[in-house]
Amino acid sequence: MSHTAHVPYFWQTELWQRCHSWQQQQRLPHALLLSGPAGLAKQVFAKHLIQSWICEQPNATCEPCQQCRSCGWWQQENHPDVCLIQATEATIPIAKVRELEAWLSLKPQHSVKRIGLILQPQYMTRSASHALLKTLEAPPAHGLFILVSDAKPLLLPTVRSRCVNLDFVCPTIAHSVNWLNSQYQYLPSDCEMALKYAYGAPMRAKQDLDSGHMKQVAQCIGELLSAIEGKKSLPKLIEQFIKLSAQSGLYYIYDCLKDLAWLVIGQTQAPVMHRHKLHTLQHMAHSLSGAQIVALLDQWHQLQYELLEFPGKNITLGLESLLLNWQAALKR
Ligand SMILES: [Zn+2]
Repeated sequence: MSHTAHVPYFWQTELWQRCHSWQQQQRLPHALLLSGPAGLAKQVFAKHLIQSWICEQPNATCEPCQQCRSCGWWQQENHPDVCLIQATEATIPIAKVRELEAWLSLKPQHSVKRIGLILQPQYMTRSASHALLKTLEAPPAHGLFILVSDAKPLLLPTVRSRCVNLDFVCPTIAHSVNWLNSQYQYLPSDCEMALKYAYGAPMRAKQDLDSGHMKQVAQCIGELLSAIEGKKSLPKLIEQFIKLSAQSGLYYIYDCLKDLAWLVIGQTQAPVMHRHKLHTLQHMAHSLSGAQIVALLDQWHQLQYELLEFPGKNITLGLESLLLNWQAALKR
């Protein structure tokens, strides 16, 4: 974890305060469901919340002290009143849920509650979901379930409704750009593109910036546009895309076509993903009509469909035809 930014992150502060008002009023719920898109640090939040709830002397803002016996056990990952289950091989079997329930029904050894953390509960099998539902209908007196999910709609509606729901929401792009720039010194233009690729989730954007993935994306986009402009060999670009993965190549093409569509209908600012190439894109958009963009997007969808229907299919010819049509449209 970074030394500069820490939990709760700025998009989590309201939820953090809500959780701690329950603690202050000594009415913790029996079950909590933390959900929202990936990349909002929900899991980190949940773990920090648990530590602050089991800490023997949290500070005024409910931060754990890091020094008491409970915090010590927590740091060594063997607190007697906390148990974690998560999916292995994308499934959570009923046995694991039953085990957790039996354990939660026992009296806590050291804390006010026993806490069972279930990561990505949407992977529970049907029978596991029903077992959990039964327990949620008559929860153990000293037990607290915390569910953390990136895909809440996949949970049983009855499970969702028996939990107190904490919905994590992506902050605005502007706020996140500001945060990534001030905390981690990334250039605002890089942050903006990373956030658009991450659908607005700041931690996902940060990860893509940290790993150098965004640099690779920017480079691919640059090469794609150069090839369309005739400054780089088209077959070479296609070879490069296929090597990377046909799917990634297709996504890059789609994102550029989408930018062009925005520009063609006169939207120059906010929605455009590749602002670092705005000049080139604007130049292209100038010679394209709406109908041409739609035709290119249609062709793109056909290719995407083929790839989904027949994974591993060689789409070199399809890609070539799409990019040649794109070039031809610019010359008309
Ligand atoms: Zn403590």
